[in-house]
Amino acid sequence: MFASLSDRLTATFKNLRHKGRLTESDINATIRDIRLALLDADVALPVVKQFTSAIRERALGAEVSQALNPAQQVVKIVNEELVAILGGQTRSLQLAKNPPTVIMLAGLQGSGKTTLAGKLGKWLKDQGHTPLLVAADLQRPNAVTQLEVVGERAGVPVYAPERGNMGGHDAVLESGEGTRSFGDPVAVSRQGIEQARARQHDVVIVDTAGRLAVDANLMQQAADIRAAISPDEVLFVIDAMIGQAAVETAQAFQEGVDFTGVVLSKLDGDARGGAALSVASITGRPIMFSSIGESVKDFEVFHPDRMASRILDMGDVLTLIEQAEKAFDRAQAAEMQRKFLAEEDFTFDDFLNQMAAIKKMGSLKSMLGMMPGMGQMRAQLDNLDEREFDRVEAMVRSMTPFERTHPKQINGSRRARIAKGSGVQVSEVNSLLERFTDAQKMMKQLARGGGIPGMPGMPG
Ligand code: GDP
Repeated sequence: MFASLSDRLTATFKNLRHKGRLTESDINATIRDIRLALLDADVALPVVKQFTSAIRERALGAEVSQALNPAQQVVKIVNEELVAILGGQTRSLQLAKNPPTVIMLAGLQGSGKTTLAGKLGKWLKDQGHTPLLVAADLQRPNAVTQLEVVGERAGVPVYAPERGNMGGHDAVLESGEGTRSFGDPVAVSRQGIEQARARQHDVVIVDTAGRLAVDANLMQQAADIRAAISPDEVLFVIDAMIGQAAVETAQAFQEGVDFTGVVLSKLDGDARGGAALSVASITGRPIMFSSIGESVKDFEVFHPDRMASRILDMGDVLTLIEQAEKAFDRAQAAEMQRKFLAEEDFTFDDFLNQMAAIKKMGSLKSMLGMMPGMGQMRAQLDNLDEREFDRVEAMVRSMTPFERTHPKQINGSRRARIAKGSGVQVSEVNSLLERFTDAQKMMKQLARGGGIPGMPGMPG
């Protein structure tokens, strides 16, 4: 996410690091670099202009802080302006006073709406809401099925019209030139909301149809649905990979349906990020969520300040901590802490539990990417082979319960059996045992020293 933009900006700042004072020409050169980096990342020209002129004005102005050196001051200014173009404050979902809250999703076909419906549904459910997904994308016959699959994965119920009797209309409607619709999406949306009311769902997420390119029929359909259901939020889902087309698409949806917030999808790809950096400031609508993968848990609330920190390689420790808190079971963490303080041996069973928790946090790469300064190590990160974890896990799973709690007893023949069982070389088992013994020792030393380094879920 934003890798090349991030690399270019940090390289620019590096050039300033050893300067005691910045001349006007230093500032101009820096701004030129920033401008090029943004344009290469597909940020829309008006946004680039606004951004660089704000930075120039502030950098040349009398913004002098005793606490920061000139390079740090520039980073601070760029950071603040980046937060501003990303929308400023984090904007949370507006919930209706009288439930159900109605959320409508709009966007081009393939932008990630259906996937998002599941992610948003799961996220709301995890917070104690009782969402219902409504399948009002009747443009493609399999869109309804797709939403049902997504709903199942998310553990969230789906309201879908009966096949063959969609929306109480004829099975296939002609809804405009070249458009075949398998029912009436306006009627289905209304019925979905009625059902939510009857069954006491407190949030309804309405998935609507998209097309490959913006067209008048599609817009009219979305506008009709909006008028019929008066949603509390209309979320415009945009694929972060669409580059320069982002601005035009966002404007077309703003004029056609209007929306209250933006969701950036596919931010996990090697998108240059221009969409993200343009859409909020062009439309004046906040980015509220980001979608970062195909699985239902690959979803984050969008925080402009944290995203700016990630782009400037200042890390996003807050998100990392939140994910750790979600993944680590409190009881398990307390048990770990007890064992730790009692200087009991850390066993391979504990190790498996920790691996499972780490996996729940998402991919190792995305986690490491949130640590400050990790941008500099991108090459190593890219080479990181997550399968290494699977190999380690396979070795541990090939151990007997006795071996897991008594690693010192794992002799040559046991090692050979473990290697065979997990499909690795004996040397790999040796190396794992060696590292494990070292880790056990280190933990004991730490326990005696009293300090526990910032391990997630293990408050010191
Ligand atoms: P819709 O047509 O707007 O409903 O889009 P879909 O939800 O069907 O998504 C289109 C494709 O993009 C599917 O193959 C999804 O699996 C994929 N997709 C959706 N969101 C993401 C994401 O955040 N990251 C990645 N890598 N793929 C995504």
